[in-house]
Amino acid sequence: MTKKKEAVYVTKPVLPPLNELNIYLKKIWDNKIITNNGPFHQEFESALAKYLGVKHISVFSNGTLALLTALQALNITGEVITTPFSFVATSHALWWNKIKPVFVDIEPDFYTLDPAKIEAAITPKTTAIMPVHVYGNPCRLEEIEHIAKKYGLRVIYDAAHAFGVEINGNSINNFGDLSVLSFHATKVFNTIEGGAIISHDAAMKKHIDHLKNFGFEDEVTVVGPGINAKMNEIQAAYGLLQLKTIDESIHKRKIITQKYREALDGTPGISFLADIPGVKHNYAYFPILVEKDSSGITRDELYNRLKKNNIYARRYFYPLISQFPPYKNLKSAKKKNLPVAHDITSKVLCLPIYPTLNTIEIDRVYKIIKRYNKAV
Ligand SMILES: *Cc1c(COP(=O)(O)O)cnc(C)c1O
Repeated sequence: MTKKKEAVYVTKPVLPPLNELNIYLKKIWDNKIITNNGPFHQEFESALAKYLGVKHISVFSNGTLALLTALQALNITGEVITTPFSFVATSHALWWNKIKPVFVDIEPDFYTLDPAKIEAAITPKTTAIMPVHVYGNPCRLEEIEHIAKKYGLRVIYDAAHAFGVEINGNSINNFGDLSVLSFHATKVFNTIEGGAIISHDAAMKKHIDHLKNFGFEDEVTVVGPGINAKMNEIQAAYGLLQLKTIDESIHKRKIITQKYREALDGTPGISFLADIPGVKHNYAYFPILVEKDSSGITRDELYNRLKKNNIYARRYFYPLISQFPPYKNLKSAKKKNLPVAHDITSKVLCLPIYPTLNTIEIDRVYKIIKRYNKAV
């Protein structure tokens, strides 16, 4: 029996150099400040704001709590228009705030919320739109902003996939009323667990900072019903070190993306996304669509073939959020309301991509895709 080749997962986190982290840990151990807006937390927020090109950022213990808090910060209630093609946390954040998600279909080019279908879903109860820059590709920002203005709606972008993405040199996080990042281990930039809210004025940042710390303004003043969603000093120090290598990580992802594109170009029934002019991408994911009619293999067959070869691609996002409890019985969750999302979720497969994925591993992945492509 031949030895099974080493497992390749869809992602692998980048960690900061242990010797450099140790220097920071020593500082924390010396000064005994381990959380509550300590020196590393403050330095991390400033460094992040500078790196991303945003004015105000509040870091969080994770992206889901940042989403929950963003909705609280803007007093969002009633119904919110959102996408079914995302990670479940997008809708869960609404559900935890007792807000009804209203699913609107995605557009077929980049799988983000389709602006042409938003207006029909607006009711007197609608208060906001929560679109997702899925796979790090920007939503149709101008059209969404136009609709939001016309109907007096707030826009909160779930930018969990979009760390470092820019449009014509401007951070994607500068769009919408608020923009939310995730620094989870699986994301392009990680602090093990973590997240952030980007806001546009000092008063809103202050409000968000109160909300993430039980509502405390000072020792004796509680301004509202806050939560505990603070990032600790160890993660903030770790995050500061991560900023030193993030450009290199994104560059390596770009090279891997180019290799996949070259290798898979022209493979019948296999398609993938291209770069968008004017957009600085972060190459967070490499989704392909598998068309059975022209490739001779279904997405799930290909997924299982890869798995048998110890390659763990992932079906992001399958099933759709609208297919899970507690959403599947909502009127907007009906399949006929979401034809594009249902089509994409049945065909999409995200291939392994992370900075240390080597050429041999990339070759293994695309060769299997080509081998089982019956049309080749
Ligand atoms: C990862 C993710 C989240 C949740 O972030 P956590 O930091 O894991 O809580 C929210 N939305 C999307 C689209 C995500 O991919």
